[in-house]
Amino acid sequence: MENCKYCNSKLEDCIEEGLKCNLCLNNVHIKCLKRGAVPGGFNGDVFYTYTCQECSESKSEVFVRDKLSWLQVIVLVLYHLNTKSSGLARKGFFHWRFHIATFINKNWDILFTKYVKKKKSWTGTVAGTLSHFSTYFFLSGTSVFKEQAWWTLKYPKMSPYLITKIYNSLMTEKSKLKADKQIISDIEIFNKILKNSVINLEMLKPVLLPEADVSANSTEISCDVINILPSTSQIRKNSEEKEKDCNKRKSLLPSFDNKKFLKLSKSSESLADEFTVKCLTQSNTRGEKYLENILKHNRCQEKKEKIRLLDPYCHFNTSLSNISRMKGVSMKQKLLVGLREQFILSPYTGSQLEPYIWRDEESFPLWLKLMVEIQLTVNEKTPNYELPPRGPLVFVRVKPEHIPCINSLCNQFFWPGIDLTESLQYPDFSCVVLYKKLIVAFAFLVPNVSHTESYLSFIFTRPGWRNIGIAKFMLYHLIQINLGKDIILHVSTNNPALMLYQMFGFKIEKVVLGFYDKYYRDDVKECKNAFVCRLER
Ligand SMILES: [Zn+2]
Ligand SMILES: [Zn+2]
Repeated sequence: MENCKYCNSKLEDCIEEGLKCNLCLNNVHIKCLKRGAVPGGFNGDVFYTYTCQECSESKSEVFVRDKLSWLQVIVLVLYHLNTKSSGLARKGFFHWRFHIATFINKNWDILFTKYVKKKKSWTGTVAGTLSHFSTYFFLSGTSVFKEQAWWTLKYPKMSPYLITKIYNSLMTEKSKLKADKQIISDIEIFNKILKNSVINLEMLKPVLLPEADVSANSTEISCDVINILPSTSQIRKNSEEKEKDCNKRKSLLPSFDNKKFLKLSKSSESLADEFTVKCLTQSNTRGEKYLENILKHNRCQEKKEKIRLLDPYCHFNTSLSNISRMKGVSMKQKLLVGLREQFILSPYTGSQLEPYIWRDEESFPLWLKLMVEIQLTVNEKTPNYELPPRGPLVFVRVKPEHIPCINSLCNQFFWPGIDLTESLQYPDFSCVVLYKKLIVAFAFLVPNVSHTESYLSFIFTRPGWRNIGIAKFMLYHLIQINLGKDIILHVSTNNPALMLYQMFGFKIEKVVLGFYDKYYRDDVKECKNAFVCRLER
């Protein structure tokens, strides 16, 4: 019987799928289930052993999760994301870690049940499964993004149930042929099965790759820059056309020597104590991955430039000296200093970001008042002494040259081992405040820690620059940027910043005892317990 027990109409693959009661063997549409949806509510999820209301002893429907293969889980997740959260996608593709693995992690108990323990390497399995089945069911976005991280379903209209069916027939067919000692390529068998099992040809339509790619984008941006910066454009026009893209990227990212960086980080690890090593291996592996990505991106590397390292151990100077800014920059770029002010291309959202967020000309922080007092005292006897002009506080987005200083401030004021290099991947969600070349404050949001949450990782203002609303503005900015998602954060229970968070509507969700134990040293006066706060959207 192929009709639904409740509404009596037919069950159809991909369109009106349902579950079969394991006792009376009647079919029931997902939409006709008495509870309205399967547990978890994922689109296309029919992978339950189901007992209908009439057959069950408790007189309510019973769902027992079938054992799912990794292929099924990933197909299910992609199908659900595609149909329910297509807004998350980048040109129709989902990031294997930020979208797929995060979703699995969050819904582990529903997908696998809580009796299945996570293996340490499970995220690796996600990546492996995606590429293993890329000939059949998954489509990689590598050619679109020049980065091996983005995936989507090859046939987005095929339901996870149908894909499972096709995969199972592929396996049976393969073993049959093996027994008959016939040699036919897997792809041939697959295509045959595909034709036989899919009635609606609409479903066989594969995804079309979006044509836009990185280089096309950057030429567009160059045009914008020319419009905005007429003085630069004069010189730029004269420069060789073919170097355009190359320079653009170089101005966004510093040049690295990957091997040297790794060597350096390794040797420094051996010097550090056990605790620091732990922190660093975490942050450095992320850094390494990031570097690899940059190197992949950096297609124009004919010119070998001087090495600039983003070294978490750069403690010597926390202000941006001109020399460190200019090191490793070609003569042409030195002449074109204006280029530094151009739009930033966000690797995360792919959008162009304006270089400035805000300029504050009025605030007069305590530190500057003190400086004025000192200058006046020192020059008391100078006739007609005039104070040097005071600069504005400039709010910008994070740039590569900020990272060593920010890392150093984090090491000094939070705990050792912090490396914020990763924030360059999503500059949209950052705010750095400069007074001339001094970094006086910064704040970072990690987007997509889950698909409904962002995480406020660090917010900091130098002492002497506090209480004039800098943190307030940075937080305001980040909340504005973070559309449609909750923001969560940890804050030490005796940190006065809690007041600020509450002012913005953050609510304390729970207390984590000893949260900062592994971070803060014992002599730090901050309380080691933390509140978890959430700003709901
Ligand atoms: Zn029905
Ligand atoms: Zn039944």
